[in-house]
Amino acid sequence: MARVMIECPSTGEPIFTGMTFDWPSFENVKIGQKQVRCSSCGEDHKWKRPDAYLDLSSHTKCIIFGRGCEFSEDLIG
Ligand SMILES: [Zn+2]
Repeated sequence: MARVMIECPSTGEPIFTGMTFDWPSFENVKIGQKQVRCSSCGEDHKWKRPDAYLDLSSHTKCIIFGRGCEFSEDLIG
């Protein structure tokens, strides 16, 4: 299972949304608008699935763009 993360709009820091999915579930799941208390800035942020990505490991992060998966060197580290 991988943690579902979003990016804090204020600080740009990754935030754990409290949800975990494995890949097949996350690809197919229908997530409505969610709200999470930000661990970075302390505000509540609303998010939807297109905002979210799975934190697969500390070295590889995968952003979900609707259907597919795009790996970016910028996200590594
Ligand atoms: Zn925040």
